[in-house]
This record gives sequence, structure tokens and C-alpha cells, in this order.
Amino acid sequence: MLSLLILFSFVSACSSTKWSAKEPDKEQMVSDITYLASDKLKGRTFGSEGEKKAGEYISARFKLLGLKPMGDNGTYYQEFTVKNNNPHEVEFADDKQPGYLTGRNVIGYLDQGAQYTVIVGAHYDHLGMGLFGSLYTGEPAIHNGADDNASGTSTIMELAQRLVPYKEHNYLFIAFTGEENGLWGSNYFTKHPTIDLSKVVAMVNFDMVGRMSENKIAINGTGTSPAWPDLIKAANMDSLDITMGESGVGPSDHTSFYLIDIPSIHFFTGAHEDYHKPSDDVDKINGDGMEKVANMAARILRSIGNNGKDKLEFAKTKDDDQNTPKLDVTLGVVPDYLYDQNGLRLDGVRDGHPAAKAGLLKGDIIIKMGGEDIKDIYAYMKVLSTFHAGDKTNVVVLRNGKEMPFEIQF
Ligand SMILES: [Zn+2]
Repeated sequence: MLSLLILFSFVSACSSTKWSAKEPDKEQMVSDITYLASDKLKGRTFGSEGEKKAGEYISARFKLLGLKPMGDNGTYYQEFTVKNNNPHEVEFADDKQPGYLTGRNVIGYLDQGAQYTVIVGAHYDHLGMGLFGSLYTGEPAIHNGADDNASGTSTIMELAQRLVPYKEHNYLFIAFTGEENGLWGSNYFTKHPTIDLSKVVAMVNFDMVGRMSENKIAINGTGTSPAWPDLIKAANMDSLDITMGESGVGPSDHTSFYLIDIPSIHFFTGAHEDYHKPSDDVDKINGDGMEKVANMAARILRSIGNNGKDKLEFAKTKDDDQNTPKLDVTLGVVPDYLYDQNGLRLDGVRDGHPAAKAGLLKGDIIIKMGGEDIKDIYAYMKVLSTFHAGDKTNVVVLRNGKEMPFEIQF
């Protein structure tokens, strides 16, 4: 998943593959993650050797799954080159020149002869050695990205094997690259689609789905069609604790599809202390939780548009015109994206940053900053954008139900 701060400013081998086709296969998902998040792939950053190897692995898996290549020239790869490293305004290049970077989306098609197609996506790139986008303060180290987002990548492969018997829709599976740099791969695909987008009824994105706890899941983008909430509720047969977020704009690739008026949702099992750190490793993946996500997603994918008979109605979501504030300072906290009560709950506090220095702790809920009420992350970003380096302010947090004031020095 893209760092929220960026958003707001902006095979080799399938060794001995064993899977029982069409059945949930948790072991295969964990084995995909084990390879993709191994040190061998060095964090899979855009344009790197590790990203290339990951792409080869995914394309080999797509081939074994019987998906039709839907990249360039009869391959699974859609290659593109970018001119700069600026997440605010990526510029795609027509040719390769020194200093430019080239990466590849990996695209496979399950053609069921249906009228409409659903795009099922997940990014497979990550932060490499953490030279950008990292929350880790130590020496450069491999950011393995097991949850972010080998988990989503393995989920779309799991769905590819599961959906074979079902003919309601065609499914286009895309493993995106360059997501961590600023949604590059999905942005490029929407500008250079390899299928007829007028037949695409929805996009379903999986970014960080490997850390389910207490049966909780967030589904974002539910305001992008009036049909989503009912579809989601009807598919919730495992009684998951679902938090729906309406906005079509979020820190991952569904945003690119929402921006071209396609109803788009994003599955997310929540932020954690290993987010964008080298410690996001496969041993912390919850395989049972991933199976629950895949079960739920498979039901939703099939039932979209009255089981494939209709298009989904598109809707613009509310916070579109919310100006994205530009930030000069940071508090150094990891927001809890699944928290749906009043305030901003902290999933973590980064050492050496203003919040930690002031004494804020993981679990605190910020309810006031600079005298303003903080009802959610948007209110928080808005108030934060008014401060500059050197400023002082006060925050009020709820800790164990008690209001406590702290002084912040930016
Ligand atoms: Zn990320």
C-alpha cells in the first residue's frame, strides 16, 4: 500500500507446485508469499532485478492456472518506462534513456465467454531496501513486503484457480508494479488498457490482506456504486467484522480505476507495526484470515451486477472535492485505518518523531489537535497541514477512556 503521505500529496521457479484445483488453498497462498517476500527478491522495488524475478514467478503461475496472456505481444507482461521519480506527476516515456526506470505489470485473462469483465488486481512491487517510503529508521535493509503486498498478489492467484468453474463474468487478473511509487502500474494500465474497458463492470483490489485479526476487514470504495453495500453484506457468510469506507480515492490501485468511472473496491485487513518496515515478513501472515478474505471475495466477484447480467451503476464519492492538504510536518504515527469511531486511533508511534517525543503511545486516540476537533483521519490531515517545522501545538488523546493533553514540538 502506498504511504498515505504520498497519496495525500498527490521464475525462475514454481517449484513443485501442488494444489487441488478449485478448492481453497491456503498452503499455496502462503507458499507464494514465502517466495515473493524472500530476501532473494530484495523487496521487489520498481524496475529492479527482484521485481523482474517476481514478475516471472507470477507469469509462470498465471500460465499454470490456464490464464490467457493479456500483456504486450502475446506475453503476460505489460512493460512501461517512467521518466522521473516524482509521485506527484509521473511521466511515462516512449523510449528508454539513462536514468529512466522500466517495470512490468503482469496480466492474465480468464475468458468465460461472458458479457462483462471484472478486473481483479493487486500490486506486487514493494520498497526494495527502503530508500523511499520506508518507516524504518535503521540502516538500509530488505523490505520483504509479505503483507504489503505479496498477500494480495497470492490472493488474486488463489481467486484465479477458484473462479474457473464459474461463468458469470470474465476476469482479468493484474499484478501491478510501481504502486509504492505512486500507483504507476494501475495508472499506466488505465491509459493503455489491453481489453475493452467499456465491458469492465468493476475493479476489485487486494492490498494488505494478510494480517486479519479478530475477523476484522476494511472494504474501501463502497460508495463507488450504490450496489456495493448490499453485495458485500450478502457475501458475508463468515460473519466478518466489516468496516466500509465510501471514498473511491485511497492509498492503492483501485483509485486509478475509480478515476475513470469504474466501480472499484479495496480489501484491507489493517495497518500494523511492521507496515513499510523490513519486519513485514511471511511468519506474521494469517493464512486462515487470507482464506476468509478469498472466500468472501469469490462470492462478491460472482454476484456483481446481478450475477453478471447487468453493469454496476457508478457513483462519485463524497470526499472527492476534499482538497488534499500539503504537509510540511509529520507527527510520526501509524493511523489505525479500521477505527470507525470518533478520533484518530494510533496503531503505532515512530521512535524519534514528535508524537513519541511528546509521550503518545500506541492505542491512544487523538480527539483534538491545535484546538480543533479530530473526528477522523481527514480532519487530522487538514489540521496537520496548517503546521510548519518549529511550530508547537497541543493534542488531546483518549487513553484508557481518559482525556490527556500533550505538547507537540514539530
Ligand atoms: Zn505499501
